[in-house]
Amino acid sequence: MGDVFQFMKLSRNPGQKVEAEVRRVRFMEIYRPLSATDAADQAGRCLSCGNPYCEWECPVHNYIPDWLALVQEGRLFDAAELSHKTNSLPEICGRVCPQDRLCEGACTLNQGGFGAVTIGAVERYITDEARKAGWRPDMSRVRPTGKRVAVIGAGPAGLACADVLVRNGVLPVVFDRYEEIGGLLTFGIPEFKLEKTVVAERRVMMEEMGVVFRLNTEIGRDVTIDALLDEYDAVFMGMGAYRAMTGDFPGEDLPGVLKALPFLINAVRQNMGTLPAGEEPVSMSGKRVVVLGGGDTAMDCNRTAIRQGASRVICAYRRDEANMPGSRREVANAREEGVEFLWNRQPVAIEPQADGALSVVLAETRLGEPDARGRRQAQIVAGSETRIECDRVVIAFGFQAEPADWFEEAGIRCDERGRTRLAGGAVFKQQTANPKIFAGGDMVRGADLVVRAVYEGRQAAEGILGMLEVW
Ligand code: FAD
Ligand code: SF4
Repeated sequence: MGDVFQFMKLSRNPGQKVEAEVRRVRFMEIYRPLSATDAADQAGRCLSCGNPYCEWECPVHNYIPDWLALVQEGRLFDAAELSHKTNSLPEICGRVCPQDRLCEGACTLNQGGFGAVTIGAVERYITDEARKAGWRPDMSRVRPTGKRVAVIGAGPAGLACADVLVRNGVLPVVFDRYEEIGGLLTFGIPEFKLEKTVVAERRVMMEEMGVVFRLNTEIGRDVTIDALLDEYDAVFMGMGAYRAMTGDFPGEDLPGVLKALPFLINAVRQNMGTLPAGEEPVSMSGKRVVVLGGGDTAMDCNRTAIRQGASRVICAYRRDEANMPGSRREVANAREEGVEFLWNRQPVAIEPQADGALSVVLAETRLGEPDARGRRQAQIVAGSETRIECDRVVIAFGFQAEPADWFEEAGIRCDERGRTRLAGGAVFKQQTANPKIFAGGDMVRGADLVVRAVYEGRQAAEGILGMLEVW
């Protein structure tokens, strides 16, 4: 163990941020990687608490103080092996987790105002640098069981499930309707939070481990669920939550009003050079843009519009800053990049203007009592409407899960919010009403976080291994 007072001598450094002026025109990650010295120094700030709260707040319960100690000692490959014992996508979670609300929010150093250990940046450093130095997951003790599992969806839940299965000798075959793996990691989260090369590198690693990907294949259209149930020993569904929520006010369907996810996917595909023939590239260049919503998706739309050259980006949200769902870090980044925020504003209409522009009508709100989920409800203040003139509006009100039309015949049950139900009293983790089908991630939880999808994918894999009696 190094200097126990390092946390006092050395301040927190999550990786140097690229200057806002440079960021505004680049679709690249904004945090520079830690050097080996910085990573060891930052890891050395950990107090190795006897009861590490960071581990409990981390949804996959990473062995955080243990891998921090390995980094401090320069044992990079051991750290990479250990971090993969609990997390299938550590370099990705290290980049996109809202650490301020999870591991770092719980760090003991926060209580004393010393600044949390930069857990996310070190987690990212471990896999990135270990891979560059030649580390490969240790598969030497894996014995094939002869079992095969179909995984529907190559998002974080599906990838995590496949990772645990293949490490236990079960062959995962992962199907996805898209041409690349990653789910929202590729077709949603923009490059300034997660560069696509990181996901591509993870694909290489998983293929080296023996995971098989069948892309451009939609279950229910190209292959039936019955075929999967016949051909495989079990099925895992990690299909995400894609029904865009609406505000139910006039003008949401006007030309110039865009939905968040198609806008973000269009931008990603432009950057990747994979925009399908016939799909127009969307550009906010020179446009006045209003983004409606206050979650991570809204922040990504704001910052994408800035990078596409919007002349002005205003983000309007119906609650105040303290009650917004988006990560504080991402709001701060958006603000630095030039996004203007209007809090306590609820859209009540979007109106077309004679010159082709749009006018967003916003009412002021006041926060009322917390609802059943503990969130304070926004109540409109009568007669408080104001208008903002703009050229484009992006609606980012979040997503709900949605049952596929084949769920019923496959014996899958959903709740009133479209979320797949797990079987009550199921013997195996993440098992649905059809005992051969397991599920996890956003389709079970509703739209949530990457790390929670990873956790449920891993849990489901354990359930499947238990059912197949190979655990
Ligand atoms: P998904 O990632 O949605 O993957 C589901 C996959 O299933 C998709 O690839 C889809 O093509 C495939 N699929 C669906 N149906 C079929 C079918 N019938 N056949 C074949 N394939 C199918 N979380 C964070 O932690 N940090 C962030 O910064 C963050 N930013 C976000 C930004 C945006 C714009 C959005 C929309 C979400 C963000 N999230 C973030 C949330 C996070 O991305 C999700 O919680 C996570 O990706 C859910 O993982 P999943 O595997 O359940 O689903
Ligand atoms: Fe923190 Fe997320 Fe890593 Fe857990 S997975 S240690 S919450 S960054």
